[in-house]
Amino acid sequence: MPVMNALLALHQTERQIRALRSRVDSAKLYQTMQQRKLGEIETRQTELTDRRKQRQAHIGTLETEGQSVEERLTKFREDLNAATSTKEYHGLLNEVNAQKDIKRGLDDQALQEMGEIEKIEEELETLKGQHAERTTVVEQAGKDLAEREAEVSDQLQVLEGERDVKRADVSPTVLDRYEMLLDDLDGDVMAEVLEVDRRRREYACGECSVHLPFDQVNRITGNADEVLQCETCMRILFVSEEFREAVVVK
Ligand SMILES: [Zn+2]
Repeated sequence: MPVMNALLALHQTERQIRALRSRVDSAKLYQTMQQRKLGEIETRQTELTDRRKQRQAHIGTLETEGQSVEERLTKFREDLNAATSTKEYHGLLNEVNAQKDIKRGLDDQALQEMGEIEKIEEELETLKGQHAERTTVVEQAGKDLAEREAEVSDQLQVLEGERDVKRADVSPTVLDRYEMLLDDLDGDVMAEVLEVDRRRREYACGECSVHLPFDQVNRITGNADEVLQCETCMRILFVSEEFREAVVVK
């Protein structure tokens, strides 16, 4: 079998293998993305739960302070009732009012904290719903991935066997070059020669569209053992059978 025919047959199988793998890869990528989104929700939940705990602790502190103020107030009020002079009475009244101001301030702060906690709880409630939804999506993505892997694995095994057989038809030097290009060009290694203008002998690379010298096209067309690369995109150039029959120099 001419080298070019063997190479094209091998490449066809290689493309089928890559197409199957990419189906699994895209399912894997989707699953990873969904897991990441779930992780983001969980991070936010932890953050909000911590913040709520801090605010609740602050309310506890405010309540303790409030109790001390209340105790002082009771004491001042008792003293006030027992005051023996107007001066003493006014002094104690000022103290009572000052403590009342402090208590009001503490109550305002506690109220503000409670408002903040309420907001946090609303967001936590929304997140709970989002978490449940996203968990379902992640689970489904995992099932789809497993299903796709199972679907593909038998076909892949068959195709990889075929590829081994087809590899044996290609000479080692050409095979080395082909496989190196597979890595470099991510599988997209073959380029068909296109006819731009037969009368003017103008031909182009089917992948990068660069103009190809007629001499190069003539060598590929005239000899199916000739493996030449496009000098611009490095892909291996091939011609279709119809092209070969039409162009070959008679
Ligand atoms: Zn090219």
